[in-house]
Amino acid sequence: MKFETKAIHIGEEPNLSQGGTGDVVIPIHLSTTFARKDVEQPTGRYEYSRTGNPTRRALEKRLAALENAQFGLAFASGMAAEATLILSILKSGDHIVAFDDLYGGTKRLFNKVFRKFGIEVTYVDARDPENVARAVNQHTKLFWMETPTNPLMKLCDIKEISEIGKEKNIITVIDNTFMSPYFQKPLDLGADIVIHSTTKYLGGHSDVVGGAIMLSNQKLFESLLFNQNSIGAVPSPFDCYLVLRGIKTLAVRMQRHAYNAQKIAEYLEHHPKVKKVYYPGLPSHPQHDLAKKQMSGFGGMLSFEIDGTLTDAKIFLKRLKIFAVAESLGGVESLIELPALMSHTSIPAKEREKLGISDTLIRVSVGLEDVEDLIDDLENALAG
Ligand SMILES: *Cc1c(COP(=O)(O)O)cnc(C)c1O
Repeated sequence: MKFETKAIHIGEEPNLSQGGTGDVVIPIHLSTTFARKDVEQPTGRYEYSRTGNPTRRALEKRLAALENAQFGLAFASGMAAEATLILSILKSGDHIVAFDDLYGGTKRLFNKVFRKFGIEVTYVDARDPENVARAVNQHTKLFWMETPTNPLMKLCDIKEISEIGKEKNIITVIDNTFMSPYFQKPLDLGADIVIHSTTKYLGGHSDVVGGAIMLSNQKLFESLLFNQNSIGAVPSPFDCYLVLRGIKTLAVRMQRHAYNAQKIAEYLEHHPKVKKVYYPGLPSHPQHDLAKKQMSGFGGMLSFEIDGTLTDAKIFLKRLKIFAVAESLGGVESLIELPALMSHTSIPAKEREKLGISDTLIRVSVGLEDVEDLIDDLENALAG
């Protein structure tokens, strides 16, 4: 089965057996517990809804299928997936090598939560895989990467980094939230584990918070499954239904997100008030070749720097009528934000500067509106 077909059918095959109702859409199974005929063992597959739930199970099957994985697990948020993953695989004294431009919430989880438990993290510029290899020490258990990163759209080579990991017995984790499995499949490139914030493109409508882990390693899966139940950061059946529903249109949404983002990136690149545009689909992106190699499209996220001051950036955002000034990404509506004052305020100004996140850097999650309307909105706001 091809991607679009799996996205609609896997996990939601109508039950046409005796007693089955033939639902085309899986019911939202609200029952927290499942009765049994025999005291000694459950009658069906389910006992208690934290441990397993039919609506969640449908979602987990579909999640696995999208990433060409053997196993999928759904969580209450992207952060819940990340925390459960670390608690399942690492112990005190272990070490992670991570991309220095990681999602802020992931850095906070590493630095403020897990450091207290003796887990160390080294951040490197993973655009060069050599930097990843050099940071390895005898305690390194995980590589934790995102590509492209947020908001600077830096890429790392999933295949090369996974190879370094395999050689040194280190597990490679890729946060694939930005590309979605439609445009990038890290497991096919050699990574061991993929994580997602399903809040973003998989849900796709800015109305559900969720997370996911996909992998094919049976032993790692068993320990994650054990901790999914033991820790209990699971999504509600209704949330699972929303993500299942969102995924059905993932392919067509991603195509349009990327089409609109490419047009906007090209428009901005030629605007006299724009200093720089960061979008992997532009030939001017320094890693455009790597993007073409490991992604099948360039996604819906881009950033740009306007020529001016922080005040100019704030005035520009105020003038916009269609773009909502908001954090988050991946929904049908276009969102825009100022990392220096919004998503990345937790990073000290000096470090932000070092990373290249200037006061006039603007991040855009390009939605599915008519692209001419979006460009008109930007044009008017930039004109002032
Ligand atoms: C949003 C996000 C997360 C965290 O996911 P939540 O669902 O908000 O908990 C992790 N990684 C990336 C890249 C994200 O964009």
